Amino acid sequence: MTLSVAIVGSGPSGFYSAESLLRSREDVTIDIIERLPTPYGLIRAGVAPDHAKTKNVARAYEKIASDPRVTYFGNVEVGRDITIAELREMYDAVVLATGASVDKPFSIPGHDKEGVLGVAAFVGWYNGHPDFRDLNLNLDTEGVAVIGIGNVAIDVARVLVKTPAEMAATDLADYAAAAVHASPIKDVYMCGRRGPLQAQFTNVELREMGQLDVAAPIVDAAQIPDDIPPEVADEIGERNVRVAQRNLATLREFTEIDPTGKDKRVHFRFFSNPVEILGGDRVEGLRVEKTEVVDGRAVGTGEFSDIPCGLVIPAIGYYSEPIDGVPFEDGRARNQDGRIDVGLYAVGWIKRGPSGVIGSNKPDGDAAAAQILEDLPEGGKPGQAALTQHLAGNGARPISFEEWKRIEAAEEANATDGAPRRKYSRVADMLAVLDG
Ligand SMILES: Cc1cc2nc3c(=O)[nH]c(=O)nc-3n(C[C@H](O)[C@H](O)[C@H](O)COP(=O)(O)OP(=O)(O)OC[C@H]3O[C@@H](n4cnc5c(N)ncnc54)[C@H](O)[C@@H]3O)c2cc1C
Repeated sequence: MTLSVAIVGSGPSGFYSAESLLRSREDVTIDIIERLPTPYGLIRAGVAPDHAKTKNVARAYEKIASDPRVTYFGNVEVGRDITIAELREMYDAVVLATGASVDKPFSIPGHDKEGVLGVAAFVGWYNGHPDFRDLNLNLDTEGVAVIGIGNVAIDVARVLVKTPAEMAATDLADYAAAAVHASPIKDVYMCGRRGPLQAQFTNVELREMGQLDVAAPIVDAAQIPDDIPPEVADEIGERNVRVAQRNLATLREFTEIDPTGKDKRVHFRFFSNPVEILGGDRVEGLRVEKTEVVDGRAVGTGEFSDIPCGLVIPAIGYYSEPIDGVPFEDGRARNQDGRIDVGLYAVGWIKRGPSGVIGSNKPDGDAAAAQILEDLPEGGKPGQAALTQHLAGNGARPISFEEWKRIEAAEEANATDGAPRRKYSRVADMLAVLDG
């Protein structure tokens, strides 16, 4: 009997799972259920708008979606339109690929002031994610502090300081472009508790900071060591040592850049632990304590300084959103190499937590397909017929992949200035493309 599988979430891990399942057996049907009308998860809503090449990976996912054994159900949310328990009744296997979309809690004194905004919301906002369309961000400030020294923090800093010309050929949401480019932002401070040896950015992303039209990277030469001490090399591992060596070389080059004549600056503030957000109702600054790294851990020195800023963006990691019927711990689904239970599996960030690049999600798909093959040699549940009937009964408006392609075509037709697309950021506007 044909095996019916529901994959919840259409980001990289959802598509890689579909690909592995299609390869693992002929007699399988796969329904990909996605809460937004638009597919591709963080490829569309996370990856920076000026990294168009990275987003091209979606072309490979299109091929997977066009397999006759795969059906896309966009605009269907698990928890709102259907529950996990109902899906498990309908499908032989359910694969959770819902990612990690909520900011990790950030709670230093003052964290609830106006002007503190988690990176998930900020990135979603500039990428046109419907959940963040109406944030009404106040960017009327010259200083912004981004807490974190990884690729996401670098993306945010770059988007804040690039010029309209540098962002023209990107899919930065139009309202975000208008707000960022009208803002008086001059200084972006990237603060990390630890040092450049522990920083999580990849070298390609770091180097971009030295190639901006009107912004200069500011690095304190005294914070950049000449080489990597053996105990640190042991602690961070061989692969990271190579990345750290390249990063040190790049940061050293940055110390030689003369910022004179540049309008904006991105300050790399290593060894800076945020301890308090300053101001009244609104953020006016960030107090940081200088640290030393001892045995890989940041230890406070008792020396404090204040960073003037009107916006603080903690970029310290993500948690997965809990789903009824799924056990959770440490911000992700409790699982054993992806298996939650026989018939219920997790892949991608809801399985592993928020780390790794797009390709890191691929092995999760292979593992899930292998486990499904092992646990469920025979299918038998109704799958799609039951889902369609259920959705018709509760007034849902599922979007097919062909309909998504029509939305995409309209976004591409609306693009200007060499941009790949002009995104719709409201679900109603996407539906209007289809239904008038
Ligand atoms: C800001 C940012 C920038 C990044 N940039 C890069 C980069 O440049 N290069 C790179 O290689 N990697 C990058 N990454 C990492 C990469 O995006 C992730 O590895 C990858 O997207 C994780 O895939 P996923 O499928 O687990 O989750 P996601 O991509 O988040 O996909 C989850 C999907 O599930 C859907 N969903 C959630 N809840 C439900 C529900 N209840 N019902 C139905 N659907 C639901 C969501 O709408 C979403 O479409 C970046 C990550 C972030 C956060």
